[in-house]
Amino acid sequence: MEQSEKEKLRKLNAKGEFIYRTHKESHYAIATPEHRVREKYPWEMAYIGKHSKITKEYFRCKGSSTNPPHMDHKDPARPANYFDCGGFQKHSLPLRGEQEFVYPILIDLLNYIQAKTGCKAIITCGHRCPTHNAYADNSKYNQNSKHMIGAEVDFYVQGMENKPEEIVQVIMGYYAEMSIYKGDKQYQEFQRTSTGELNVSTPPWHNKEIFIKLYKKHEGRDFDNRHPYPYLSVQVRFDRELNEKVVSSWQKAFNGYRRF
Ligand SMILES: [Zn+2]
Repeated sequence: MEQSEKEKLRKLNAKGEFIYRTHKESHYAIATPEHRVREKYPWEMAYIGKHSKITKEYFRCKGSSTNPPHMDHKDPARPANYFDCGGFQKHSLPLRGEQEFVYPILIDLLNYIQAKTGCKAIITCGHRCPTHNAYADNSKYNQNSKHMIGAEVDFYVQGMENKPEEIVQVIMGYYAEMSIYKGDKQYQEFQRTSTGELNVSTPPWHNKEIFIKLYKKHEGRDFDNRHPYPYLSVQVRFDRELNEKVVSSWQKAFNGYRRF
């Protein structure tokens, strides 16, 4: 009661007074707010444009124990039967240290292609364990394939299936654009190799780090590439992290992954 009376008196006696300010007067300088790009939510990180981001998971061996064995009787003196591996449930990706490892440049290139073209890259063959490698393609040429050490990928781009040359240009664009390669001609300039002993009719492209082969519609139809499209194969030639050439050997491939 006493309180409210006091309040009434206060209001009664209160005098108003205008506050005068000059034009643009300010007591505190307020900095212009900076636009801050918010951090991405975890689910947004998984996408590039509308396509899921490519990770090492996409490189897992495409072998399966449900694939029927096939026979090779090309040399009747030495007929051979090929059985597929148990698939990625039965073995890991190649290992570096104790970690599963696929050459990061391959993953980066595929994501760059997706970002630039807005189309989805379809990996038909990433890692091949030695068993699946022999099953998928038992040609002599494929024996030491870099697929076995996570240094090669076969793919085509959905919606641009018949324009693999354009994708090669996009890959070259990656080297021109990325600041880590700035001014380094060994990476930015691509050379063509003669097809010589190779299993393609288009002369491949290479820089210091990668080697690109284009398989036409009727070339390179191994077990993993039974689709009707031309496709690209990118191999890693040089390991920037270890500063050494990337060489595949059966030894390295066979001992380089874990069986479950
Ligand atoms: Zn396998």
